[in-house]
Amino acid sequence: MSPLKKTHVEGLKKSITGRVISPQDKDYDEARTIWNSMIDKKPAVIVQVAKAGDVPHAVRFAREHQLELSVLGGGHHIAGNSLAENGLTIDFSNMRKVTVDTQSKRARVEPGATLADFDKATLAHGLATPTGINSTTGIAGLTLGGGFGWLTRQYGMTIDNLLSARIVTAEGKTLKVSENENSDLFWAIRGGGGNFGVVTEFEYQLHNMNPEVYAGLIVFPFIEAKNIMKQYREFSKSAPKELNVWIVIRHAPPLPFLPEDQHGKMVIVLAVFFNGSADKGESLTEFLKGFGNPIGDHIGMQPYTQWQQAFDPLLTPGMRNYWKSHNFRSIENELIDTVNKHAATIPTPHTEIFLGSISGVQNDIPANATAYSARDARYIVNVHGRWEKPEDDKRCISWCRKFFDATKPFASGGAYVNFMTEDESERVPSAYGANYERLVSLKQKYDPDNLFHMNQNIVPEPLARK
Ligand SMILES: Cc1cc2nc3c(=O)[nH]c(=O)nc-3n(C[C@H](O)[C@H](O)[C@H](O)COP(=O)(O)OP(=O)(O)OC[C@H]3O[C@@H](n4cnc5c(N)ncnc54)[C@H](O)[C@@H]3O)c2cc1C
Repeated sequence: MSPLKKTHVEGLKKSITGRVISPQDKDYDEARTIWNSMIDKKPAVIVQVAKAGDVPHAVRFAREHQLELSVLGGGHHIAGNSLAENGLTIDFSNMRKVTVDTQSKRARVEPGATLADFDKATLAHGLATPTGINSTTGIAGLTLGGGFGWLTRQYGMTIDNLLSARIVTAEGKTLKVSENENSDLFWAIRGGGGNFGVVTEFEYQLHNMNPEVYAGLIVFPFIEAKNIMKQYREFSKSAPKELNVWIVIRHAPPLPFLPEDQHGKMVIVLAVFFNGSADKGESLTEFLKGFGNPIGDHIGMQPYTQWQQAFDPLLTPGMRNYWKSHNFRSIENELIDTVNKHAATIPTPHTEIFLGSISGVQNDIPANATAYSARDARYIVNVHGRWEKPEDDKRCISWCRKFFDATKPFASGGAYVNFMTEDESERVPSAYGANYERLVSLKQKYDPDNLFHMNQNIVPEPLARK
């Protein structure tokens, strides 16, 4: 890497309409702070782009000065690849516009938009598309890895609703990608992460959406977990696609609807989302409550945008995080036993075991239709190891890894790149399964020098052989 001189940075500033931030600038530390506080990287330069036209200049500058290049969307990826140590980070935080066309039910979205930005703009027109469950997540990284949330059973993954994108390639060229234009690249970015270029605009298909949904939490004591998970398994096989129920096992937070003596105790929570009428939601909920003896519930009609933010208080930035996840086709009895055995030793009050259902429309799509290939996955189990102090790193990471190893025998073998930590590069081929070979050859075509490697990296063929 060539040392970056002040004159180089001054030259870069002249070509960029946005801001170029260097370590001596007063807001440098703020600009390099991302969601997972374990990541403490110091880029040589942060380019806060103001328009798509800034991006090719930043890409060419990184190439010319042999700077490691990273792209910062919402800054949520657990691995922290959005920052490049001593490199150049393209930061989209000032490009968050969402433009909705109500006629065609489409949204054009700038890559710095958060899920909250997206939901607010689309819901204003009674429209939505599947995204994730934490509103501060970036739409860019979420989409490029696949993207799933409460609406996924009904409308598929986020990528299944992506119509086109604009992307700046390693050469600094801007291409439009869709089913009809540069369709190979369009295939690759639907799951291939940031491997193929810098996306400057996404275009999504939207769906009619009720402003209010029936949603909330039913909380049971942990002692009932095994029984509840078994009933959940049977129920979820035939549940309507408008209903999505996820399981969370953790220490009870001090939620106002829970008795105070239950705060801090281990619980199993059913997080319920129903995109339908209050009457039907209520009867489905009554059935779910019968799975055990709830210690509290808080459920009813609420604005969809409110439910999309319901988990934000538990997923705040600034904590230390280490996550591990597997995909599953089914929930075997042995998986239930293993989850519960490990839950009993959960290492911190903030750590949670989360089991989400993605069973539905996404399973009907062929595995080779997009780079994301886990079309057989019906559930994702993700342990969110979360803690406050660096001295707990070893203990918490070790617990997450043990959980991961113990649940592996029951997993479907794929992986979700959006949940992979930085030490999981060996899982990248299995994450893409039979699609991996095609991705390697497209990487060779579009980024033979592997300029875009700050991601769950697909290494181009000749480099992979070295
Ligand atoms: C609290 C929390 C909740 C989550 N919930 C869900 C969920 O419900 N569903 C789900 O599917 N996932 C979920 N995720 C995972 C999430 O999808 C990934 O972390 C995703 O990468 C976040 O995107 P981002 O833009 O915020 O991340 P960033 O860290 O900014 O980006 C991640 C990577 O994406 C690439 N990238 C970002 N922007 C661009 C761009 N414009 N062009 C090219 N490459 C780019 C880069 O390689 C970058 O390193 C969650 C994560 C967190 C931390």
